[in-house]
Amino acid sequence: MSDAALPPDSAAAPAATPASEPITPAQRDDLRRQGILLTSIEELYNWGRSHSVWPLNFGLACCAIEMIAASMARFDIARFGSEVFRPSPRQADLLIVSGTVTKKMAPQVIRLWNQMPEPKYCIAMGACAISGGPFKQGYNVLKGIDRFIPVDIFIPGCPPRPEALLHGLVQLQAKIRGQPLTGPDAPRHLRSDVECNCPIPEFGAHDLVPTQNPTVWQPPQPIVRPDKA
Ligand code: SF4
Repeated sequence: MSDAALPPDSAAAPAATPASEPITPAQRDDLRRQGILLTSIEELYNWGRSHSVWPLNFGLACCAIEMIAASMARFDIARFGSEVFRPSPRQADLLIVSGTVTKKMAPQVIRLWNQMPEPKYCIAMGACAISGGPFKQGYNVLKGIDRFIPVDIFIPGCPPRPEALLHGLVQLQAKIRGQPLTGPDAPRHLRSDVECNCPIPEFGAHDLVPTQNPTVWQPPQPIVRPDKA
């Protein structure tokens, strides 16, 4: 067709959406109904990560029984892509701290965490892993694994049921899907200014040394009311 046969610009097809304007969910649904899938590298990358979270085959106490139940046929953690419990931390993405963490065991738990490659995640399952639970006052029990390693999801209960673990896993998947791949909120493995490994405490005369990892946990500060200051 010669140029003379083309309509003038003013009579051309309706103006296209400017490239910088984001596509709306309604437009995306329209396209999906026509067999066209639109996504971004970030969504695709996060979708892949969130549906292949392989846990470490590891448990500490009674909560581990509930974790095992979650992988059985009745609850079927395979529906969420996490049935591949790995026997080696080198192949695992998720540390489920399920049970009481004694101070004698804590260095080993942190060592396992350090041996897992990034990207990796941690779920503190049950009252013991969160705070020491019924053994909180014990001299030998750690008052929360979050004092030493970064915890992504806390699941309360003594013990939490398998459904609670599945709910925690779904929450973790949502968290992964919402992570930007650039900027200050990017995951640890994509940032050069964040240390991925955690220091392993040693046994001191009366307690672990140090007693916490200050980069992941700070003691809560007392709330001082202005009228009491
Ligand atoms: S939270 Fe309760 S069920 Fe879980 S390990 Fe502690 S005592 Fe056992």
